[in-house]
Amino acid sequence: MSKAVGDFGGIVLARHNYRESDMLVKLLTDRFGKKMFLLHRARKPGFRLTAGILPFTLGEYVGTVNDPGLSYLTAIKHAEQFQSIANDITLNAHATYILALIDQAFPDGEPIARWYGQAVDSLRLIDGGIDAAVVTNITEVQLLEAFGVAPNWQGCVVCGRSDLPLDFSEQYGGVLCRDHWRLDPYRFHVAPKAMYLLRQFSTIRLGAVHSITVGDATKTELRRVLDRIYLDLVGVTPKAKKFLDQLPSWQAKLPPKQ
Ligand SMILES: [Zn+2]
Repeated sequence: MSKAVGDFGGIVLARHNYRESDMLVKLLTDRFGKKMFLLHRARKPGFRLTAGILPFTLGEYVGTVNDPGLSYLTAIKHAEQFQSIANDITLNAHATYILALIDQAFPDGEPIARWYGQAVDSLRLIDGGIDAAVVTNITEVQLLEAFGVAPNWQGCVVCGRSDLPLDFSEQYGGVLCRDHWRLDPYRFHVAPKAMYLLRQFSTIRLGAVHSITVGDATKTELRRVLDRIYLDLVGVTPKAKKFLDQLPSWQAKLPPKQ
């Protein structure tokens, strides 16, 4: 049993109504990993901590963090909601999926400072207008290791070469150079541009990204490759992914933007 009282940074991961007027809010914290907080009377009018527990909020909180068990918030020192994400269905869908993947990749209560930073960077970039699909892809590539899948993206798994055309092989757990494609008849046939980007994404520091432009065909290819890797090797599909997949059909039904 441990108990920590103090300040910490956090991002709202999920909210659930609880009992008659309470709420359970899951925060990804900078120091304690993911923790579930019980907020008494959070659904009553005039609740004083409301601004800190809205979806897509980054905050500095004061509270009591218990391990195990529910934790409690006593004050919010600062809170900012990512407004573009909160107000745009496409950005919302991508951000929700990213947070859900991070949520599924790690057990509650395990300190994951790197992923706290990465979640903050992801939301900031998406909110600031960087292509949400690309930020999502970068997160998916970098999270593979946490899911116990660590493909070798850097050079051919067999000979180490990276100067020849490369393709992805599930069987070999990474890339194969053209000389070794014959070893895997089920290699992915990844389009060269997408292959190049996947290898970049595996090492890029998200916080250092200022602009990134990826064509639609390459984005579709990235989606195909990562969907197959996640389906075959990870086996995790958050509910938020289904919504993301349905987004194009939703958008078709929305009135055009003025
Ligand atoms: Zn090779």
